[in-house]
Amino acid sequence: MTTDLTGKDPRSQDQPLDPTAPLHTHEQMELAESRTAHNYHPLPVVVAHAEGAWMTDVDGRAFLDMLAGYSALNFGHGHPALLQAAHEQLDKVTLTSRAFVHDQFGAFCSELGDLTGKDMVLPMNSGAEAVETALKVARKWGYEVKGVPDDTAEIVVMSGNFHGRTSTIVGFSDDAAARNGFGPFAPGFVTVEYGDLDALRAAITDRTVAVLLEPIQGEGGVLIPPDGYLRGVREICDAHQVLMVADEIQAGLGRTGRTFACDHEDVVPDVYILGKALGGGIVPVSAVAADKNVLGVLRPGQHGSTFGGNPLACAVGREVVSMLATGDFQQRATALGEIMRDRLEKLIGNGVLAVRVRGLWAGIDIDPKVGSGRDVCEALMARRVLAKDTHGSTIRLAPPLVISEEDLLWGLDQLAEVVAGA
Ligand SMILES: *Cc1c(COP(=O)(O)O)cnc(C)c1O
Repeated sequence: MTTDLTGKDPRSQDQPLDPTAPLHTHEQMELAESRTAHNYHPLPVVVAHAEGAWMTDVDGRAFLDMLAGYSALNFGHGHPALLQAAHEQLDKVTLTSRAFVHDQFGAFCSELGDLTGKDMVLPMNSGAEAVETALKVARKWGYEVKGVPDDTAEIVVMSGNFHGRTSTIVGFSDDAAARNGFGPFAPGFVTVEYGDLDALRAAITDRTVAVLLEPIQGEGGVLIPPDGYLRGVREICDAHQVLMVADEIQAGLGRTGRTFACDHEDVVPDVYILGKALGGGIVPVSAVAADKNVLGVLRPGQHGSTFGGNPLACAVGREVVSMLATGDFQQRATALGEIMRDRLEKLIGNGVLAVRVRGLWAGIDIDPKVGSGRDVCEALMARRVLAKDTHGSTIRLAPPLVISEEDLLWGLDQLAEVVAGA
């Protein structure tokens, strides 16, 4: 299970976390704070090594990872099959640029095309880049295929959305911290209430080219829309010749117990946006997948990326796709998710106001009497469990799908004791 270099079981509570004692942690935190932009407020843990669901810090203490890089580490740290794919590719070729083709490129796009059921794939690097790619493609499709007058395309987005940090994307966020101070913003976006089909219907015009949504809002606090919502969105998009664009960057690739979160309603969007776990926790890999009538609108010179679809990214991405094709990780997410749901629902009324669970993914609203989400995450850290708060009072749990049942239960026990004020 663990790699605690102190030689003690990290699950025993006889090693209280004293912020002044761990010499290396202290030093490294100071260095990180003095010489880096303060665009994050990390927990004071400095990781030096990780394996599976466990991370070891610079002072040799082990922590259970219940965040998994916001789902970028669905397969855990250092999965042997992913490491092998990366190591093998490192010795062959790692970068060509798209000026030339390499031998992993066609195979990756074709295999990911099979997994998504789409004709074409366009690989990029970060999630935000893939979202930008989808926005560009949707607009071009709108002008060339739907016949929307030039430069008038509208894209409908959802309240509470999170799609990344570029200046276009934060322009249609309604999170003040993400947005304020970064304008002026790109026009062409209309926001409607997430989960409200009537609001969506009312927002569609002749110029609407796409509806962009997260099938579950991760950053929003693992917000699951009402049953039938995704099917309703699909119907509205079909009725008005509008592209349904699903940002599955955090929700997709096994996390919810299905390959895609849209699968829970048997809905197939026109465009999938993928990222995070697609890089296996090793390299940034994102992609847009869609049929030829959509992605086919891009011609040479109209979009690109120096690193997008590089050999290392494609080799790791191919292994991710082949691991997902077995269905094993999805099954694990479902089975462990049921166990997690059981445990978390028992906490309602005991320091927890509400929980939302889909697969191995949970949003937990903490009773303000217990403290803020940050307070709870700090208390969890003192017990060697790492999680992340969102929007002040919510905690998100997204353990690696490879976590053992025993470790998951132990982590949830720590949460139960923290919220109970133990
Ligand atoms: C993380 C995330 C993004 C942005 O991905 P980056 O790789 O950080 O740019 C976009 N959409 C969703 C739903 C995400 O969770």
